[in-house]
Amino acid sequence: MNKLIIAIDGPSGVGKSTLSKLLADELGYVNLDTGAMYRTVAFAAERQGLNIDDRSELAKLCKDIVIEFARDGASERVLLNGEDVSAQIRTPEISLMTARVAACPEVRQAMVQRQRELGSGGGVVLEGRDIGTVVFPQAEVKLFLKASAHVRGQRRFLELQAKGMGSSLARTVAEVEARDAADMNRSTSPLRQAEDAVVIDTGDLDISQALMRMLEVVAARHQTSDSAGA
Ligand code: C5P
Repeated sequence: MNKLIIAIDGPSGVGKSTLSKLLADELGYVNLDTGAMYRTVAFAAERQGLNIDDRSELAKLCKDIVIEFARDGASERVLLNGEDVSAQIRTPEISLMTARVAACPEVRQAMVQRQRELGSGGGVVLEGRDIGTVVFPQAEVKLFLKASAHVRGQRRFLELQAKGMGSSLARTVAEVEARDAADMNRSTSPLRQAEDAVVIDTGDLDISQALMRMLEVVAARHQTSDSAGA
């Protein structure tokens, strides 16, 4: 069977990370969490005390750092210059900072180039905000996941609680909405649904139902691409 490029986009808290990993495992594909790359840039900028509104400082930073992914059993680790920063990049403060850093065109250019290098061979699930629109507009499968801000905020809140990071539900919903607004309104590669994406509302589905729906879309695409290639 052809090794496809699968693009999964959507706002935060929609279940993208969990579902992308499960889908990649199910298909024997590599999973690429592009949000983790932007988070790592934000974390590195914060650690170095950079002014995140200075585009040239951010552009230089992207050239200087090495972001890699490593698999440790079932968990995926993110490495910044060889150091495991998986936990540090997931705090609410870094989430909000990431949305600002990700609006910088030079940062996007550097990340998109790296994502294309990593994904162009196929057999990959990429999840992010602009995969189907900018990174791989030619992806064979494009999925756009959505759910209401309240549902997504509630999920995020439970995730943060499980990690022992205290916050209130109202505050988490407000942060989700703030990040949506930043991601949708930026001028470079704003979050939007590709015209040819299949939309899945994960608000009414549990994980296994959503995964099933995604696998159906992939199977249908496999049939058309295999018969076209035959
Ligand atoms: O997916 P995640 O919530 O980890 O993404 C963190 C932030 O990274 C997003 O809010 C967005 O600002 C940025 N991002 C992006 N483009 C992507 C993936 C993430 O701008 N492809």
